[in-house]
Amino acid sequence: MKALVSISRCQSYEYREVHEAIRSALSALGGIQHFVQPGMKVLLKPNLLSPSDPDKAITTHPVFVQVVAEIVTEAGGEVWIGDSPGGTGENTPELWLKTGMTRTSEATSARLVPFQAMVWKSLRGKSYLIARPIFEADLLINLPKLKTHTLTLYTGAVKNLFGVIPGTRKREIHLRAPSVREFSSALVDVRELVRPGLTIMDGIVGQEGNGPGANGTPKRYGVVAASTDPVALDVIMAKAMGCPEGGVLHLKEAARRELGVGELHSIKVEGDSRALEFGKVRLPPFSGLLQAAIPEFIAPLFSRLVYVRPKVNSSACTGCGLCAQSCPRQAITPDKPARINYRECVGCLCCAEICPQGAITPLRSPLARIAGIK
Ligand code: SF4
Ligand code: SF4
Repeated sequence: MKALVSISRCQSYEYREVHEAIRSALSALGGIQHFVQPGMKVLLKPNLLSPSDPDKAITTHPVFVQVVAEIVTEAGGEVWIGDSPGGTGENTPELWLKTGMTRTSEATSARLVPFQAMVWKSLRGKSYLIARPIFEADLLINLPKLKTHTLTLYTGAVKNLFGVIPGTRKREIHLRAPSVREFSSALVDVRELVRPGLTIMDGIVGQEGNGPGANGTPKRYGVVAASTDPVALDVIMAKAMGCPEGGVLHLKEAARRELGVGELHSIKVEGDSRALEFGKVRLPPFSGLLQAAIPEFIAPLFSRLVYVRPKVNSSACTGCGLCAQSCPRQAITPDKPARINYRECVGCLCCAEICPQGAITPLRSPLARIAGIK
């Protein structure tokens, strides 16, 4: 049987339009009643990467979260909203306030749930600390944002699940999985441990270029997508963005492990498929494809020659120190401007992701430029 991805068009965050688009996307999946029964605890997991204004398109838009919360409440569910940002990972009042979640919570009966309590989960000898509310809820609804990503090329439904690892614990995973291939595999481990019952993607205004943080450029994609299979949903959206086939390594790995459908011919797109005609999308510089294509025994040598590393723009840096807090290798000295020790840096680009000023950009090595990594 084919995986189903339901698409609807939505050009703005005007409440009625968003409501109609989400309802329409859900109808092809049997409506919300197919997922939510009265009395269920339903955890909504938006992308709250950092305390950012919704207009920057870094986080799932508050109107989008509000509409889903209302639809779930109407079906009798008790709504929780939770995520853990990068960096220090603290669910501060600033995070809820700036991302619009405070307003969303006030406008609905949804409860904001900090991802502080954790549980250990093991998978084939590897341990992951995961936010406890993920396992306390009866249903997890994944609400990703459609964006480019300087490390993984694309971020959507599967990558959004990485937020279930509470803040600073993410650094440990970057540390033990420094290459894009290893990190992609860790993302799939999280997907294996955490199983959303439903994914509804905010692709109304996403990002292109050096996403997923302040360096990304907002782009109006004008789409809402829903599926029970986050891998299939991502495969469709990554293709629409122009990512090369097999180029998003965590999707390839998730499909290989049979955690979702990865082959286009096995995915059925329902609804307004013309909404997927995005035109030209600017993708970030990316060395992951080349890294994945070479044999593992020469990978260390290769990654010393062909890489994308962070560069601090000294005039944009305010010296806030957030990049230093998020760096898994403690390779950054907090200063104005921040200083990077490239001997320690593993190129995870967590610093670029978290910088609120967009002051850290990916820099290609000379060989990466020759290899045509754009
Ligand atoms: S580079 Fe960005 S995150 Fe780091 S200190 Fe400067 S402004 Fe803050
Ligand atoms: S300096 Fe930036 S890219 Fe390098 S290891 Fe630290 S967070 Fe990752």
